[in-house]
Amino acid sequence: MERAGIDLNGVRYRWPSRPVVVVCIDGGDPAYFERGVRDGVVPNVARFLEKGFGTVADGDVPSFTCPNNMSIATGSPQSVHGISGNFYLDRETGEAVVMTGPELLRSPTIMSEFSRHGARVASVTAKDKLRRQLGKDMDLSRGSANFSAECADERAPEKTGVEDALALTGMPKPDIYSPELSLFVLEAGIKLLEQRRPDILYLSLTDYVQHKYAPGEPEADRYYRAMDDKFGRLHDLGAVVALTADHGMNDKANPDGSPRVIWLQDVLDARFGKGASTVICPITDRFVAHHGALGGFVRVYCHGRLEPEDVRRLAARLDGVEVAYDKATAVERFDLPPDREGDVVVISRADTCIGAAQADHDLSGLAGHRLRTHGGISEAKVPFILNYPLRAEYAARAAAGRLESHQIFDFAINGTELG
Ligand SMILES: [Zn+2]
Repeated sequence: MERAGIDLNGVRYRWPSRPVVVVCIDGGDPAYFERGVRDGVVPNVARFLEKGFGTVADGDVPSFTCPNNMSIATGSPQSVHGISGNFYLDRETGEAVVMTGPELLRSPTIMSEFSRHGARVASVTAKDKLRRQLGKDMDLSRGSANFSAECADERAPEKTGVEDALALTGMPKPDIYSPELSLFVLEAGIKLLEQRRPDILYLSLTDYVQHKYAPGEPEADRYYRAMDDKFGRLHDLGAVVALTADHGMNDKANPDGSPRVIWLQDVLDARFGKGASTVICPITDRFVAHHGALGGFVRVYCHGRLEPEDVRRLAARLDGVEVAYDKATAVERFDLPPDREGDVVVISRADTCIGAAQADHDLSGLAGHRLRTHGGISEAKVPFILNYPLRAEYAARAAAGRLESHQIFDFAINGTELG
Protein backbone atom coordinates (compact mmCIF):
# COMPACT_ATOMS: atom_id res chain seq x y z
CA MET A 1 0.00 0.00 0.00
CA GLU A 2 1.32 3.44 -0.90
CA ARG A 3 1.82 5.50 2.25
CA ALA A 4 0.77 9.13 2.33
CA GLY A 5 3.64 11.59 2.12
CA ILE A 6 4.09 14.84 4.01
CA ASP A 7 3.30 18.47 3.26
CA LEU A 8 5.85 21.09 4.17
CA ASN A 9 6.21 24.73 3.11
CA GLY A 10 3.92 24.34 0.13
CA VAL A 11 5.48 21.14 -1.22
CA ARG A 12 3.95 17.66 -1.04
CA TYR A 13 6.68 15.03 -0.63
CA ARG A 14 5.60 11.51 -1.54
CA TRP A 15 6.67 8.57 0.58
CA PRO A 16 10.05 7.50 -0.84
CA SER A 17 9.93 4.08 -2.51
CA ARG A 18 13.67 3.72 -1.94
CA PRO A 19 16.16 5.58 0.25
CA VAL A 20 16.83 9.16 -0.79
CA VAL A 21 20.25 10.60 0.09
CA VAL A 22 20.90 14.33 -0.26
CA VAL A 23 24.53 15.36 0.13
CA CYS A 24 25.36 19.01 0.79
CA ILE A 25 28.99 19.42 -0.29
CA ASP A 26 29.99 22.40 1.80
CA GLY A 27 31.82 24.91 -0.39
CA GLY A 28 31.28 22.62 -3.38
CA ASP A 29 31.61 25.25 -6.09
CA PRO A 30 30.45 23.88 -9.49
CA ALA A 31 34.01 24.46 -10.77
CA TYR A 32 35.27 21.46 -8.76
CA PHE A 33 32.94 19.03 -10.52
CA GLU A 34 33.53 20.66 -13.93
CA ARG A 35 37.27 20.27 -13.52
CA GLY A 36 36.95 16.86 -11.85
CA VAL A 37 34.82 15.42 -14.65
CA ARG A 38 37.24 16.76 -17.26
CA ASP A 39 40.25 15.31 -15.46
CA GLY A 40 38.62 11.95 -14.70
CA VAL A 41 38.75 12.55 -10.94
CA VAL A 42 35.03 11.94 -10.29
CA PRO A 43 33.92 8.97 -12.46
CA ASN A 44 30.74 8.31 -10.46
CA VAL A 45 29.60 11.92 -10.71
CA ALA A 46 30.36 11.79 -14.45
CA ARG A 47 28.08 8.74 -14.69
CA PHE A 48 25.31 10.50 -12.71
CA LEU A 49 25.53 13.45 -15.13
CA GLU A 50 25.35 11.14 -18.11
CA LYS A 51 22.57 8.82 -16.91
CA GLY A 52 20.77 11.07 -14.46
CA PHE A 53 20.42 14.83 -14.27
CA GLY A 54 22.74 17.74 -13.62
CA THR A 55 22.64 21.51 -13.72
CA VAL A 56 23.96 24.54 -11.86
CA ALA A 57 21.35 25.94 -9.48
CA ASP A 58 20.98 29.09 -7.42
CA GLY A 59 21.73 28.90 -3.74
CA ASP A 60 20.75 31.60 -1.27
CA VAL A 61 22.50 34.90 -0.65
CA PRO A 62 24.18 35.30 1.80
CA SER A 63 26.01 32.30 0.38
CA PHE A 64 26.87 30.92 3.80
CA THR A 65 26.61 27.49 5.37
CA CYS A 66 23.79 27.78 7.91
CA PRO A 67 21.19 29.57 5.74
CA ASN A 68 21.69 27.29 2.77
CA ASN A 69 21.67 24.11 4.82
CA MET A 70 18.39 25.16 6.37
CA SER A 71 16.93 26.12 2.98
CA ILE A 72 17.84 22.68 1.62
CA ALA A 73 16.63 20.87 4.74
CA THR A 74 13.30 22.70 4.92
CA GLY A 75 12.73 23.12 1.17
CA SER A 76 12.07 26.83 1.74
CA PRO A 77 13.70 30.26 1.43
CA GLN A 78 15.27 32.14 4.33
CA SER A 79 12.18 34.29 4.84
CA VAL A 80 10.32 31.10 5.83
CA HIS A 81 12.92 29.26 7.95
CA GLY A 82 14.50 32.40 9.44
CA ILE A 83 18.18 31.43 9.38
CA SER A 84 19.95 34.09 7.34
CA GLY A 85 23.53 33.76 8.58
CA ASN A 86 25.58 32.55 11.50
CA PHE A 87 25.05 35.89 13.26
CA TYR A 88 22.67 38.78 13.47
CA LEU A 89 22.53 41.74 15.82
CA ASP A 90 19.84 41.79 18.49
CA ARG A 91 18.78 45.44 18.44
CA GLU A 92 17.33 45.29 21.96
CA THR A 93 20.55 44.13 23.60
CA GLY A 94 23.10 45.28 21.01
CA GLU A 95 24.59 41.78 21.14
CA ALA A 96 25.56 39.62 18.17
CA VAL A 97 23.39 36.50 18.31
CA VAL A 98 24.55 33.12 17.02
CA MET A 99 21.88 31.79 14.69
CA THR A 100 22.50 28.09 15.24
CA GLY A 101 19.95 27.54 18.02
CA PRO A 102 16.92 25.42 17.14
CA GLU A 103 14.64 28.06 18.71
CA LEU A 104 15.57 30.42 15.86
CA LEU A 105 14.54 27.93 13.15
CA ARG A 106 10.98 28.74 12.07
CA SER A 107 10.20 25.61 10.05
CA PRO A 108 10.49 21.89 10.70
CA THR A 109 12.98 20.12 8.45
CA ILE A 110 11.88 17.58 5.85
CA MET A 111 13.67 14.93 7.90
CA SER A 112 11.96 15.76 11.16
CA GLU A 113 8.56 15.96 9.49
CA PHE A 114 9.00 12.54 7.87
CA SER A 115 10.24 11.09 11.17
CA ARG A 116 7.10 12.29 12.93
CA HIS A 117 5.03 10.52 10.27
CA GLY A 118 6.70 7.18 10.88
CA ALA A 119 9.66 7.27 8.51
CA ARG A 120 13.20 6.38 9.46
CA VAL A 121 15.49 9.32 8.71
CA ALA A 122 19.05 10.35 9.45
CA SER A 123 21.07 13.49 9.24
CA VAL A 124 24.81 13.49 9.72
CA THR A 125 26.83 16.70 9.70
CA ALA A 126 30.51 17.52 9.79
CA LYS A 127 30.34 20.39 12.29
CA ASP A 128 28.07 20.11 15.28
CA LYS A 129 26.67 23.65 14.83
CA LEU A 130 24.07 22.41 12.32
CA ARG A 131 23.05 19.31 14.19
CA ARG A 132 20.52 20.76 16.59
CA GLN A 133 18.63 22.70 13.94
CA LEU A 134 18.54 19.73 11.57
CA GLY A 135 17.30 17.51 14.39
CA LYS A 136 14.70 19.95 15.70
CA ASP A 137 11.56 17.92 16.61
CA MET A 138 13.01 14.79 15.01
CA ASP A 139 11.47 11.58 16.35
CA LEU A 140 14.39 9.21 17.03
CA SER A 141 12.23 6.31 18.21
CA ARG A 142 12.22 4.27 14.98
CA GLY A 143 15.93 4.08 14.28
CA SER A 144 16.32 7.65 13.13
CA ALA A 145 19.64 9.33 13.85
CA ASN A 146 21.09 12.84 14.06
CA PHE A 147 24.76 13.31 14.88
CA SER A 148 27.95 15.10 13.85
CA ALA A 149 31.46 13.99 12.97
CA GLU A 150 32.83 16.74 15.20
CA CYS A 151 31.27 15.11 18.27
CA ALA A 152 31.57 11.51 17.03
CA ASP A 153 33.15 10.37 20.31
CA GLU A 154 30.30 11.66 22.47
CA ARG A 155 28.11 8.77 23.55
CA ALA A 156 24.62 10.23 23.82
CA PRO A 157 22.27 7.81 22.03
CA GLU A 158 19.17 9.47 23.49
CA LYS A 159 20.22 12.64 21.67
CA THR A 160 21.81 11.22 18.51
CA GLY A 161 20.07 7.89 17.84
CA VAL A 162 23.40 6.02 17.61
CA GLU A 163 25.24 4.14 20.33
CA ASP A 164 28.73 4.79 19.03
CA ALA A 165 29.40 6.75 15.84
CA LEU A 166 33.09 5.77 15.80
CA ALA A 167 32.23 2.07 15.87
CA LEU A 168 29.54 2.62 13.22
CA THR A 169 32.03 4.03 10.72
CA GLY A 170 35.11 2.12 11.88
CA MET A 171 37.02 5.40 11.54
CA PRO A 172 38.96 7.31 14.21
CA LYS A 173 37.57 10.66 15.34
CA PRO A 174 38.52 13.11 12.58
CA ASP A 175 40.22 16.44 13.16
CA ILE A 176 37.94 19.49 12.78
CA TYR A 177 40.35 20.87 10.14
CA SER A 178 40.67 17.87 7.86
CA PRO A 179 39.12 16.28 4.76
CA GLU A 180 38.37 13.24 6.93
CA LEU A 181 35.70 15.22 8.81
CA SER A 182 33.58 15.14 5.63
CA LEU A 183 34.60 11.61 4.61
CA PHE A 184 33.49 10.45 8.06
CA VAL A 185 30.03 11.88 7.37
CA LEU A 186 29.78 10.06 4.03
CA GLU A 187 31.02 6.79 5.53
CA ALA A 188 28.44 7.13 8.31
CA GLY A 189 25.77 7.59 5.63
CA ILE A 190 26.90 4.41 3.85
CA LYS A 191 26.85 2.39 7.08
CA LEU A 192 23.42 3.73 8.08
CA LEU A 193 22.13 2.83 4.63
CA GLU A 194 23.53 -0.70 4.94
CA GLN A 195 22.37 -1.27 8.50
CA ARG A 196 19.15 0.73 8.88
CA ARG A 197 18.05 1.59 5.36
CA PRO A 198 16.55 4.98 6.29
CA ASP A 199 13.92 6.50 3.98
CA ILE A 200 15.65 9.90 3.96
CA LEU A 201 19.29 10.66 4.63
CA TYR A 202 20.88 14.13 4.73
CA LEU A 203 24.66 14.33 4.75
CA SER A 204 26.22 17.75 5.24
CA LEU A 205 29.99 18.13 4.84
CA THR A 206 32.53 20.87 5.63
CA ASP A 207 34.34 23.25 3.30
CA TYR A 208 37.80 22.98 4.85
CA VAL A 209 39.36 21.68 1.60
CA GLN A 210 37.63 24.17 -0.70
CA HIS A 211 38.69 27.10 1.50
CA LYS A 212 42.30 25.99 1.05
CA TYR A 213 42.60 24.47 -2.40
CA ALA A 214 41.41 25.50 -5.85
CA PRO A 215 39.89 23.06 -8.36
CA GLY A 216 42.62 20.89 -9.88
CA GLU A 217 45.08 21.22 -6.98
CA PRO A 218 46.29 17.77 -5.86
CA GLU A 219 44.70 18.07 -2.40
CA ALA A 220 41.35 19.06 -3.92
CA ASP A 221 41.56 16.17 -6.40
CA ARG A 222 42.36 13.72 -3.61
CA TYR A 223 39.30 14.89 -1.64
CA TYR A 224 36.99 14.81 -4.65
CA ARG A 225 38.21 11.33 -5.65
CA ALA A 226 37.53 10.06 -2.12
CA MET A 227 34.07 11.68 -2.06
CA ASP A 228 33.24 10.33 -5.51
CA ASP A 229 34.06 6.80 -4.40
CA LYS A 230 31.56 7.16 -1.55
CA PHE A 231 28.88 8.64 -3.86
CA GLY A 232 29.32 5.49 -5.97
CA ARG A 233 28.82 3.27 -2.92
CA LEU A 234 25.63 5.15 -1.98
CA HIS A 235 24.38 4.60 -5.54
CA ASP A 236 25.31 0.91 -5.44
CA LEU A 237 23.24 0.51 -2.26
CA GLY A 238 20.17 1.42 -4.30
CA ALA A 239 19.61 4.98 -3.10
CA VAL A 240 18.50 8.01 -5.03
CA VAL A 241 21.60 10.18 -4.63
CA ALA A 242 21.31 13.96 -4.93
CA LEU A 243 24.36 16.22 -4.76
CA THR A 244 24.30 19.94 -4.10
CA ALA A 245 26.22 22.56 -2.14
CA ASP A 246 25.49 25.30 0.33
CA HIS A 247 27.68 27.79 -1.57
CA GLY A 248 30.59 28.09 -3.96
CA MET A 249 34.04 29.53 -3.32
CA ASN A 250 36.29 32.20 -4.84
CA ASP A 251 39.91 33.21 -4.51
CA LYS A 252 39.97 36.64 -2.81
CA ALA A 253 43.69 37.29 -2.56
CA ASN A 254 46.01 39.86 -4.10
CA PRO A 255 48.75 38.80 -6.53
CA ASP A 256 51.21 38.75 -3.59
CA GLY A 257 48.97 36.28 -1.72
CA SER A 258 47.66 38.68 0.92
CA PRO A 259 43.86 38.77 1.33
CA ARG A 260 42.06 41.43 -0.70
CA VAL A 261 39.89 42.92 2.05
CA ILE A 262 37.68 45.91 2.56
CA TRP A 263 37.86 46.68 6.28
CA LEU A 264 34.40 48.17 6.32
CA GLN A 265 34.17 49.01 10.02
CA ASP A 266 37.39 51.00 9.75
CA VAL A 267 36.07 52.84 6.68
CA LEU A 268 32.77 53.67 8.40
CA ASP A 269 34.46 54.69 11.67
CA ALA A 270 36.78 57.03 9.78
CA ARG A 271 33.87 58.67 7.97
CA PHE A 272 31.06 58.64 10.56
CA GLY A 273 32.92 58.21 13.86
CA LYS A 274 33.44 55.29 16.19
CA GLY A 275 30.25 53.79 17.60
CA ALA A 276 28.02 55.17 14.84
CA SER A 277 27.69 51.79 13.15
CA THR A 278 28.26 48.09 13.74
CA VAL A 279 29.46 45.77 10.99
CA ILE A 280 28.46 42.14 11.53
CA CYS A 281 30.23 39.41 9.54
CA PRO A 282 27.68 36.61 9.46
CA ILE A 283 30.28 34.04 8.26
CA THR A 284 31.79 33.94 11.75
CA ASP A 285 31.70 30.75 13.77
CA ARG A 286 33.98 29.08 16.29
CA PHE A 287 36.21 27.68 13.55
CA VAL A 288 37.53 30.56 11.47
CA ALA A 289 41.18 29.58 10.97
CA HIS A 290 40.63 28.74 7.32
CA HIS A 291 38.91 32.03 6.41
CA GLY A 292 39.67 34.48 9.24
CA ALA A 293 35.93 35.33 9.46
CA LEU A 294 36.19 37.11 6.12
CA GLY A 295 33.35 36.65 3.65
CA GLY A 296 31.54 38.37 0.82
CA PHE A 297 28.46 39.63 2.69
CA VAL A 298 28.15 41.84 5.76
CA ARG A 299 25.34 43.55 7.63
CA VAL A 300 25.68 47.13 8.85
CA TYR A 301 23.58 48.42 11.74
CA CYS A 302 23.27 52.18 12.13
CA HIS A 303 23.10 53.83 15.55
CA GLY A 304 21.93 57.22 16.73
CA ARG A 305 21.42 59.66 13.88
CA LEU A 306 23.45 57.81 11.26
CA GLU A 307 21.37 57.46 8.10
CA PRO A 308 21.48 54.03 6.40
CA GLU A 309 21.39 55.73 3.02
CA ASP A 310 24.67 57.57 3.79
CA VAL A 311 26.31 54.25 4.68
CA ARG A 312 24.88 52.56 1.59
CA ARG A 313 26.16 55.28 -0.74
CA LEU A 314 29.63 55.26 0.75
CA ALA A 315 29.86 51.45 0.63
CA ALA A 316 28.56 51.23 -2.94
CA ARG A 317 31.44 53.43 -4.14
CA LEU A 318 34.21 51.32 -2.55
CA ASP A 319 36.41 49.41 -4.95
CA GLY A 320 35.59 45.71 -4.68
CA VAL A 321 31.95 46.18 -3.65
CA GLU A 322 29.47 44.56 -6.03
CA VAL A 323 26.30 46.02 -4.47
CA ALA A 324 25.15 47.80 -1.33
CA TYR A 325 21.44 47.57 -0.58
CA ASP A 326 19.18 49.12 1.97
CA LYS A 327 17.36 46.63 4.17
CA ALA A 328 14.11 46.57 2.18
CA THR A 329 15.85 45.94 -1.14
CA ALA A 330 18.05 43.18 0.30
CA VAL A 331 15.07 41.51 1.98
CA GLU A 332 13.11 41.52 -1.25
CA ARG A 333 15.87 40.49 -3.61
CA PHE A 334 17.20 37.63 -1.44
CA ASP A 335 13.97 36.59 0.30
CA LEU A 336 15.38 37.30 3.78
CA PRO A 337 13.64 37.44 7.18
CA PRO A 338 13.29 41.23 7.74
CA ASP A 339 13.49 41.07 11.53
CA ARG A 340 17.00 39.61 11.32
CA GLU A 341 18.43 41.95 8.69
CA GLY A 342 20.75 44.91 9.13
CA ASP A 343 20.06 48.46 7.96
CA VAL A 344 22.45 48.04 5.05
CA VAL A 345 23.75 44.94 3.28
CA VAL A 346 27.14 45.14 1.57
CA ILE A 347 28.26 42.45 -0.88
CA SER A 348 31.71 42.19 -2.41
CA ARG A 349 32.79 41.15 -5.88
CA ALA A 350 34.16 37.67 -6.60
CA ASP A 351 37.78 38.81 -6.08
CA THR A 352 37.29 40.75 -2.81
CA CYS A 353 36.03 40.09 0.69
CA ILE A 354 34.72 42.31 3.47
CA GLY A 355 35.78 42.39 7.10
CA ALA A 356 34.78 44.53 10.07
CA ALA A 357 37.72 46.24 11.82
CA GLN A 358 41.14 44.96 10.81
CA ALA A 359 42.18 44.65 14.46
CA ASP A 360 39.33 42.21 15.18
CA HIS A 361 40.22 39.60 12.54
CA ASP A 362 42.85 36.97 13.27
CA LEU A 363 44.38 35.97 9.95
CA SER A 364 47.20 33.87 11.39
CA GLY A 365 45.29 30.70 10.50
CA LEU A 366 45.63 31.44 6.81
CA ALA A 367 49.34 30.68 7.25
CA GLY A 368 50.66 31.30 3.76
CA HIS A 369 47.48 30.20 1.98
CA ARG A 370 45.64 32.46 -0.43
CA LEU A 371 42.27 33.46 1.01
CA ARG A 372 39.40 31.55 -0.57
CA THR A 373 35.99 32.37 0.81
CA HIS A 374 32.32 33.00 0.04
CA GLY A 375 29.16 34.85 1.05
CA GLY A 376 28.35 37.00 -1.97
CA ILE A 377 26.26 36.66 -5.11
CA SER A 378 29.31 35.36 -6.97
CA GLU A 379 29.43 32.30 -4.68
CA ALA A 380 25.74 31.45 -4.83
CA LYS A 381 25.92 29.03 -7.78
CA VAL A 382 25.85 25.39 -6.75
CA PRO A 383 25.70 21.94 -8.37
CA PHE A 384 22.32 20.17 -8.59
CA ILE A 385 22.97 16.56 -9.58
CA LEU A 386 20.84 13.41 -9.41
CA ASN A 387 21.87 9.84 -10.21
CA TYR A 388 18.54 9.11 -11.93
CA PRO A 389 16.82 10.99 -14.74
CA LEU A 390 13.88 13.30 -14.10
CA ARG A 391 10.26 12.40 -14.72
CA ALA A 392 8.69 14.43 -17.52
CA GLU A 393 6.98 16.95 -15.23
CA TYR A 394 10.21 17.72 -13.38
CA ALA A 395 12.29 17.77 -16.54
CA ALA A 396 9.88 20.42 -17.83
CA ARG A 397 10.29 22.44 -14.63
CA ALA A 398 14.07 22.22 -14.91
CA ALA A 399 13.94 23.30 -18.55
CA ALA A 400 11.63 26.24 -17.78
CA GLY A 401 14.11 28.18 -15.65
CA ARG A 402 16.87 28.12 -13.11
CA LEU A 403 16.45 25.71 -10.22
CA GLU A 404 17.08 26.67 -6.62
CA SER A 405 19.11 24.44 -4.34
CA HIS A 406 16.27 24.31 -1.81
CA GLN A 407 14.27 22.30 -4.40
CA ILE A 408 16.71 19.39 -4.25
CA PHE A 409 14.65 17.23 -1.84
CA ASP A 410 11.56 17.84 -3.97
CA PHE A 411 13.40 16.74 -7.11
CA ALA A 412 15.08 13.77 -5.40
CA ILE A 413 11.93 12.47 -3.69
CA ASN A 414 9.24 13.39 -6.19
CA GLY A 415 11.02 14.00 -9.44
CA THR A 416 13.18 11.01 -10.29
CA GLU A 417 12.39 8.25 -12.76
CA LEU A 418 13.58 5.03 -11.15
CA GLY A 419 14.51 2.61 -13.94
ZN1 LIG B 1 29.66 26.26 3.87
